[in-house]
Amino acid sequence: MEDCIFCKIIHQEIPSKIVFENDLVIAFEDLNPVAPVHILIVPKKHIKSAMELTEDDAKFVSEVYMVAQQIAKEKGIAESGFRIVNNCGEDAGQTVKHIHFHLIGGKELGTM
Ligand code: 5GP
Ligand code: ZN
Repeated sequence: MEDCIFCKIIHQEIPSKIVFENDLVIAFEDLNPVAPVHILIVPKKHIKSAMELTEDDAKFVSEVYMVAQQIAKEKGIAESGFRIVNNCGEDAGQTVKHIHFHLIGGKELGTM
């Protein structure tokens, strides 16, 4: 998808600090981290938001969680805990219109 910053990262047209990649997802460090660990896990299919997901996209979402487990272990936060956040739409503050999941941890995150 043209003009989508995450599609450009997926196609390596703009740089990012990639921590994991396979056929379904890419994971890279957030540009403006809010915690010691802040990774974005992004399906490689251009899906605008959680509201655009279909049954056929289930494999992307399950893979996000499998990759999150793996990265959490590698980053040493599997035991201490972490948050997986998906912002959907305006009120949630979704700024990039390509579905993505924030993996956040490495400090006490507090209640929402
Ligand atoms: P949202 O608010 O849409 O849920 O999250 C978008 C996230 O993408 C933000 O945390 C922001 O810091 C991150 N972000 C935006 N542009 C870029 C970029 O070009 N590279 C990286 N690595 N992260 C970005
Ligand atoms: Zn995209």
